[in-house]
Amino acid sequence: MNTEKESVVDSASPIDTSKMSAGQRAALELTEAARDAESSSRSFAAEIFLGRFHPARMHPFPAQSAEDRDQGDAFLHQLSRVLREQANPDEIDATGEIPQPVIDELAKIGAFGIKIPPQYGGLGLSQTNYERAAILLGSFCGNITALLSAHQSIGVPQPLIAFGTEEQKRKYLPRVAAGEISAFALTEPDAGSDPATIKTHAEPTPDGEHFLLNGEKLWCTNGVKAGVIVVMAQTPPKVVNGREKKQISAFIVEMDWPGVEVTHRCRFMGLKALYNAVVRFTDVRVPRENILLAEGKGLRVALTTLNTGRLTLPAACAGLSKRCLAITRKWANERVQWGAPIGKHAAIADKIARMSANIFAMESMVLFAASLVDHDKHADVRLEAAMCKLWASEKTLDIVNDAVQIRGGRGFETAASLEARGEKGIPLERYLRDARINTIFEGSSEIMRLFIAREALDPHVKLGAPMFNSQLAWSKRARAGAGASAFYAHWYPRQWLPFSAKIPRDFHPALARNLRRAARASRRLARALFHVMARFGPAIERRQILLARFVDIGTELFAIAATCSHAQSLSMAGDHHEIIPLADYFCGSAFLRIDQLFTALNRNLDRAGYALAQQTLSGELDWLECGILE
Ligand SMILES: Cc1cc2nc3c(=O)[nH]c(=O)nc-3n(C[C@H](O)[C@H](O)[C@H](O)COP(=O)(O)OP(=O)(O)OC[C@H]3O[C@@H](n4cnc5c(N)ncnc54)[C@H](O)[C@@H]3O)c2cc1C
Repeated sequence: MNTEKESVVDSASPIDTSKMSAGQRAALELTEAARDAESSSRSFAAEIFLGRFHPARMHPFPAQSAEDRDQGDAFLHQLSRVLREQANPDEIDATGEIPQPVIDELAKIGAFGIKIPPQYGGLGLSQTNYERAAILLGSFCGNITALLSAHQSIGVPQPLIAFGTEEQKRKYLPRVAAGEISAFALTEPDAGSDPATIKTHAEPTPDGEHFLLNGEKLWCTNGVKAGVIVVMAQTPPKVVNGREKKQISAFIVEMDWPGVEVTHRCRFMGLKALYNAVVRFTDVRVPRENILLAEGKGLRVALTTLNTGRLTLPAACAGLSKRCLAITRKWANERVQWGAPIGKHAAIADKIARMSANIFAMESMVLFAASLVDHDKHADVRLEAAMCKLWASEKTLDIVNDAVQIRGGRGFETAASLEARGEKGIPLERYLRDARINTIFEGSSEIMRLFIAREALDPHVKLGAPMFNSQLAWSKRARAGAGASAFYAHWYPRQWLPFSAKIPRDFHPALARNLRRAARASRRLARALFHVMARFGPAIERRQILLARFVDIGTELFAIAATCSHAQSLSMAGDHHEIIPLADYFCGSAFLRIDQLFTALNRNLDRAGYALAQQTLSGELDWLECGILE
């Protein structure tokens, strides 16, 4: 066991953990310690929660350079060719297998090393081009998207590029760039959303040169076919200021090492050809040099990997949504019922309008976030990526569901059945099955909202929480109180002043109007957040439904900013004359949602709902379950 002194016991967390259970405290402290130390307060999205809505920071909307676009186009051309000529998504779904020749062809064109720098054998394409590839893949085949995305967004390439030593990069990146499949193993049967509770452990050998890895990982995507994976495991705890602290480390593990075993291939309601595995480790000897970043930094590796990796999923969602729009447009024009094409009936038209607007917003958010990474490899995109993931995965589920509804009975029928009776095999039921997982993996919607709330509250937590932290000395708490008072005396009145937001002059009047309204909403959000912080203090962390509303308002405001900025740039370039009404419609629909969320801050059934849920859970309402068959 390592023993170490840190200057402040809970320096990683300003939150008072003294009244928590041991399990809660350990989980929170570990996760807090793994949070990226750099401040997120300067990111566009983080500023929204402080009442600072600055569209100028997103204007002009970041455009790809001609050179970057050309590089991306060349790859997308090859990718389209391979997908079109080699892959049949319905067959992949039906057989539950991606044919090896498809995987080989994808490897040949560099699809396993899209972002890996050329010196390590990859294509070295930008994040924007990677997202464009994800849009294309998402529109075509969920299974191939998952294979490539799990490999390079969360598998070995992403953490290795970010944290690997030069030696590790030279050893592994050329292999994974060439098509050796990789994976990311964090989840365990008892550790899902709460990765701090993993049990897989790695003990150093007496000579300290190796670790002996033991444990079991669940739902490891690509695990069945992987040659090399990143495994998160507990390593011996450290004693810091007399208290034992859990350590999690990230290891690069080769799947053919003795003691590594795939014990089960998991199958799901969608993504039928996912090569997803239960992987068991029994006394696997892992060389010390295969630790990523450093011993004890594994959760940081995992969470940071997911931060950027999370951008791929919303891009794939945008691709799938676009495909649904194409299907819907054709069908709603062709299908005549009650004397008119169904697209002329208001109930269907309403769905189509929402679909178009949300797709444009989704793509705008994703492209903006990708441009941040391209501009600065170390950019803090935690909030933007999480917002993209949360918003896109939920809206895509709505879009696919609406597309199924608009296709009526045909939306529910399988592609094979449609084809067998002479109609076009449109696989909307497959899309719905495949899209369902997006709000669960890579951070469930509930966890994304908690994550965004934690980051959004961070400036207030840093200022305010030490005052309430009974673990700190009184002198420290008093100093923190004085600092907080000084900040809020200046900041709070500003949230009431009717500033006219600094909207760049060249914005179209309709967009400028929406941005001014968004700036006002951002200040209202900041005030409301401050009020609940003042009311609940540190206990705010437990008010999940309340926090979720703040998160959703902030996310809608981010979507409005990206949409307006993107629309303005396209309009100035003379592209798409209908872009302003489209963006205006999106903003209007987002403001309707925002208004409802603000109203629900004060008028809701949160308490009653929680009490009812607890009653239900305790079995008091078990009579509701009568008359059923198990
Ligand atoms: C198809 C598939 C592929 C996957 N691929 C990988 C992979 O490659 N690598 C990997 O490591 N993992 C992978 N996973 C695991 C995935 O990331 C987890 O399923 C996810 O993290 C959720 O964990 P869980 O399913 O155990 O749900 P739980 O953590 O048990 O949560 C159940 C429900 O409770 C909610 N919940 C949990 N905690 C809270 C809280 N504090 N507040 C409010 N709500 C809460 C969750 O949002 C969820 O709705 C995969 C899973 C699937 C199904």
